[in-house]
Amino acid sequence: MNKFQEELKKFAKLAIRTGVNLQKGQGLFVAAPIESAPLAHLVAEEAYKAGAKDVHVEWTDDTTSLLLFQHAPLESLKQVPEWKFYARNALVKDNYAVLNIYGPNPDLLEHIDGARVAAYTKAAGKALVPFREHLMKSKTQWSIIAYPTGAWSKKVFPDKSAEEAQKQLMKEILRISRVTGHEDPIAAWREHNKKLKIAKDFLNRQKFRQLIYRAAGTDLTITLPEGHIWCGGAEPSESGVMFNANIPTEEVFTLPHKDGVDGTVAGTKPYHFNGQIIDGFSLTFKNGEVVDFKAEKGEEALKHLLDSDPGARRLGEVALVPHRSPVSKSGLVFYNTLFDENASCHLAVGKAYPTCLENGGDMDETQLERAGVNNSIVHEDIMVGSAELDIDGVKADGTRQAVFRGGAWAFSFE
Ligand code: ZN
Ligand code: ZN
Repeated sequence: MNKFQEELKKFAKLAIRTGVNLQKGQGLFVAAPIESAPLAHLVAEEAYKAGAKDVHVEWTDDTTSLLLFQHAPLESLKQVPEWKFYARNALVKDNYAVLNIYGPNPDLLEHIDGARVAAYTKAAGKALVPFREHLMKSKTQWSIIAYPTGAWSKKVFPDKSAEEAQKQLMKEILRISRVTGHEDPIAAWREHNKKLKIAKDFLNRQKFRQLIYRAAGTDLTITLPEGHIWCGGAEPSESGVMFNANIPTEEVFTLPHKDGVDGTVAGTKPYHFNGQIIDGFSLTFKNGEVVDFKAEKGEEALKHLLDSDPGARRLGEVALVPHRSPVSKSGLVFYNTLFDENASCHLAVGKAYPTCLENGGDMDETQLERAGVNNSIVHEDIMVGSAELDIDGVKADGTRQAVFRGGAWAFSFE
């Protein structure tokens, strides 16, 4: 086995042991682009080694997706039949863990009419509500890892040959995912999870009522609901199995009060939404709702995103990531949220993670709504961090404390 094969195997093992932390006798669902077969096969092998009862792989393919968007009648984009997602919605109830191998072509739908993309996204979002609810309430373990598909690799490294680009992106993914350079990646993640825990424990002790963001083009106040919990790194599933939902992850995050966001925030990285790129954008909020927005590129796509449903105009996540993370160290724009969001403080429009609120996992929709937890069929991370970003926390007694200065934690965790 050559060195690359060895590292890929370590990566697959990391996904199974640290990512989903698959338990003996549990089933595993894998969504994987057909190009990622070499990794998906290793993942399946590692899953059976961990005692999986079954590994169900659903292969995805950009070309057939593109053909659907190009040629299917608008009516069928608007009405996704229930059976299409039946397996996903059913298997999570059967306690299958879920692993997503992720490497979409950021430009796939560049030339598709935004209304067609929006119609399908909305219909698919609705059809997938049970699946998504299950994951967002951590009822089963789930994780996302990346694979450098050809088109994505060329987007990140446009000057390299297809083969070189893919090799280089794989190298970056393995480095950033703490595989390369670690004898035992699983142990490296144990250490990393410890550090994230120190950060979130600190924030949880502060019980900030508000966060105030200041940077070029940004002046934003975010109210945090009572009982909010800062999450990050390994989190327990409903049955208490620790898992890492994202590999890589560098963030600690919580939920904003859905009615408590005011001011303007500027995006700091191009943002990739459903095969379309949104860049140079800003959002203005009043009482939690986006009341104004603009984008130099992809304004129509941004409009479609915000019009997905009423919750798409409100925030569901506030995440803190130091500007100098291993992802930022690469200096690359990945055009892939899994990476770009871990190089930058970000906010998400759309659905909030109920687990970021005390007892939120047990609340029904009305209770969550009353507690200020946003609901939507979308959850889209937008990057707002930079080396200039300052964040203050405001405590219940009105005192202010520096949380971020110049894009870095304003205090030491040592
Ligand atoms: Zn996040
Ligand atoms: Zn998010």
